[in-house]
Amino acid sequence: MSLQLQPQVSLKPFNTFGVDVRAQLFAQAHSDADVREALAYATEQGLPLLVIGGGSNLLLTADIPALVLRMATRGIRLLSDDGSQVVVEAEAGETWHPFVQWTLEQGLSGLENLSLIPGTVGAAPMQNIGAYGVEIKDVFAGLTALDRQTGELRDFSLQECDFAYRDSLFKHEAGRWLILRVRFALSRAEHLHLEYGPVRQRLTEQGISHPTASDVSQAICSIRNEKLPDPAVLGNAGSFFKNPLVAAALVAELKTEYPDLVAYPQADGQMKLAAGWLIERAGWKGFREADAGVHRLQALVLVNYGAATGLELLHLAQRIQKDIAERFKVQLEMEPNQY
Ligand code: FAD
Ligand code: NAP
Repeated sequence: MSLQLQPQVSLKPFNTFGVDVRAQLFAQAHSDADVREALAYATEQGLPLLVIGGGSNLLLTADIPALVLRMATRGIRLLSDDGSQVVVEAEAGETWHPFVQWTLEQGLSGLENLSLIPGTVGAAPMQNIGAYGVEIKDVFAGLTALDRQTGELRDFSLQECDFAYRDSLFKHEAGRWLILRVRFALSRAEHLHLEYGPVRQRLTEQGISHPTASDVSQAICSIRNEKLPDPAVLGNAGSFFKNPLVAAALVAELKTEYPDLVAYPQADGQMKLAAGWLIERAGWKGFREADAGVHRLQALVLVNYGAATGLELLHLAQRIQKDIAERFKVQLEMEPNQY
């Protein structure tokens, strides 16, 4: 057996909230063989198997009575290159941001707006990670997953993943598909997305009028570093709630009371509200109770000042949800995966 199984391991270093719960068993997978061995062992022992990556989208509310398998597989390869379009494949355990940087160093564009998102390549399809107007579905070329029910490998095309806003088939069929490697269609020509939020303004401030993909990446890193707490310093899981999609009629009604309400029209006629705006307007920004709080610069981010438990963070989130529902008739949905 090459898999190293460790009993009763604290998951504090393995989730960015820094919540201190224990895994009944813990192991790291460095190869497909390790993954299969872990799956076989868990099945044999009648233990659930919980797969994690960087732990940056988890809310752990109790000890985990499972074998927790952290994906640590490595490898990046070019699968095809026709001189303009390039397909790159990365193993699930590759850390996302260094992978993005690697693609930029190869002169490949497509992932620059997704710079500095924590976590692993393998978890990225789970919620179709997105930032600054780009989601991985925009550059997705396929993935290979292990069907935990049958032990068979399956390749998924873009259409088969059912990607949507912070959503995918893999979220709906949680626990069935273990993502082993992901493929991206990147470009040697640069088709940059600069129209979102403060990206172009930041480039202009830096005196850059004809940016490269690397310039965009650096601008986004600088914006993110200013606004978002670094999990290594202050525990958090990024945005705690999804931006709610609501009917245009509700937005019109809310605008009579809140003329500065932030809402973005969607292709299907719905409107996307900025959850951070709702939470800030309701007065929660900077709120703190014991060690659980709402970040003082970004109301969408719940933070752990040190010793908050997952349940304390969850209770704070539920209070916020109740308040937002009462004030704005909008139900906020949690983004992190709760265990
Ligand atoms: P984990 O948290 O370890 O796991 C998340 C879920 O995926 C769990 O349900 C887990 O079981 C499952 N999973 C993990 N790996 C696999 C696998 N190989 N196969 C099957 N299932 C798997 N998200 C965005 O979309 N956009 C952002 O801009 C963004 N910014 C963030 C900023 C900060 C500071 C933080 C802390 C988080 C941010 N996030 C953002 C959320 C998070 O980084 C992403 O969701 C990321 O993809 C999670 O990756 P992970 O490896 O940490 O996954
Ligand atoms: P921001 O730029 O202050 O914008 C606030 C909200 O308005 C965002 O949630 C964003 O929605 C929406 N928005 C802004 N400009 C938009 C436009 N032109 N069209 C449509 N929607 C627009 O947000 P921020 O908190 O600093 O985050 C910046 C980006 O990083 C966002 O894309 C955000 O999703 C992403 N991010 C995600 C996480 C996470 O954990 N999921 C954490 C940090 C940052 P969208 O969120 O739908 O883009």
